[in-house]
Amino acid sequence: RAKLLQRSGHFYFSRNMGVDIRERVRTMHALRSALEDRELFVVYQPQIDLTTRRPVGAEALLRWRTKDGSFIPPDRFIPIAEYSGLIIEIGEQVMRDACLELVQLNALGFRDFTISINVSQVQFRHPRFLDTLHKVLAETGAPAGRVELEITESIAMEDPDALIRLLEQIKQTGVSIAIDDFGTGFSSLSYLQRLHADRLKIDRAFVTEITHSQRGSSIAEMVIQLGRNLGMSVIAEGVEDERQASILSALGCPLAQGYLFARPMTVDQLRTWMNNNGAR
Ligand code: C2E
Ligand code: MG
Ligand code: MG
Ligand code: MG
Repeated sequence: RAKLLQRSGHFYFSRNMGVDIRERVRTMHALRSALEDRELFVVYQPQIDLTTRRPVGAEALLRWRTKDGSFIPPDRFIPIAEYSGLIIEIGEQVMRDACLELVQLNALGFRDFTISINVSQVQFRHPRFLDTLHKVLAETGAPAGRVELEITESIAMEDPDALIRLLEQIKQTGVSIAIDDFGTGFSSLSYLQRLHADRLKIDRAFVTEITHSQRGSSIAEMVIQLGRNLGMSVIAEGVEDERQASILSALGCPLAQGYLFARPMTVDQLRTWMNNNGAR
């Protein structure tokens, strides 16, 4: 399989990279102009308290709509944004948009509401990440205590001590940390404890499992227990039907997110949705 390495801003291509790489380079150029032409925008998916069924927050999710009106999924373009380094600029834009939306929702009277922002490991390892976070918070006036950053379990593995230091500095700003797609990585429990994350997000794969087999709920159950034992909040991702919601609820999972409750939506749709569903 072709490998693309990034070193000090330059690309080194190995032999046999062929079509795969040409396709990636094309997407990379398209992505750069997409950024300039404002084809990238953020949608928001509400997060729900499973007991009250009230929204407690929303996750910011990036969308790319090309000029011909078609959508390119983030799973396809984010890896390319990472390889090319464009994710630094894109990620800052997402952070700024999400913080501005939080300020807007506050102004509309929705105060008990958090915004979750996905952060790529490339952004996270960038030396200016913390400065960018400080700058965006200051410029938007977003309340840090209502902003959450989602990082994946796999971010952690490379330099645990540096990561733990960075997480401590982030937490000093008041911003909280969620571990996304939890259960799909391989971090040890003692390591997890050292991260002092505020929230675990149960990956959709385990949520899907809970109604599929007798023992299917065991991982979800374990994550819920783990969160409880370590004093962390837990949210289930990708909840699509009532059976999943009621099993999760019975297992003691406090929060959920998924198509059952709401799909990702534009800022206008979110404000309307909040007016109809959110407590003020
Ligand atoms: P994620 O952070 O785990 O986001 C959850 C994904 O599940 C989203 O896909 C969301 O639309 C989808 N989803 C939510 N509820 C359901 C459901 O009930 N059923 C199903 N089948 N799917 C559901 P999306 O928006 O395509 O994003 C995919 C991934 O791309 C995200 O996974 C995240 O890793 C990445 N991503 C998205 N936006 C950003 C961003 O702004 N920055 C970075 N670094 N990554 C992003
Ligand atoms: Mg996420
Ligand atoms: Mg996830
Ligand atoms: Mg994911």
